[in-house]
Amino acid sequence: MSLDVAYPVQTGESGKSSWSPGNQAAYNRIKDTINSMNFQIIGEYHSHINGTPELSKDDKEFIKEEADSFRKNGVEIRNWLEMILKIESKKYTRKHAQSCDCSYLKKRIRFNIRGINSPLVGYSITIGTYQYNLETQNFEEANVYVP
Ligand SMILES: [Zn+2]
Repeated sequence: MSLDVAYPVQTGESGKSSWSPGNQAAYNRIKDTINSMNFQIIGEYHSHINGTPELSKDDKEFIKEEADSFRKNGVEIRNWLEMILKIESKKYTRKHAQSCDCSYLKKRIRFNIRGINSPLVGYSITIGTYQYNLETQNFEEANVYVP
């Protein structure tokens, strides 16, 4: 599988069972482009700041609604992949040179990035990916690899 296009959409508001884009007109243009260009959608990604790299109950409901919405508009979706980036910032007491390392955690991958904006700041980004089977309506965690 290869990815041709990834559109970023900024969240305006998110709540327990709701989500809205920061710019509704821009979001509508993206959906119209997807429909008119006949792109095949493979899924979405979003971040959990200081949370977990796992799907919440609300995430699952949103994914089901979003996949159904695309299908009703004639967009072919076989399986849906949802990538979640858990992002944590870290403050260090001693200075760190710029570095980045990655490690595999069972099915997930984690990047530790240090000293990019400041020698006393770093970030840990853990990526979890889930496959949603539209026929069975089941979610299953997928393996994440970096080439
Ligand atoms: Zn989420």
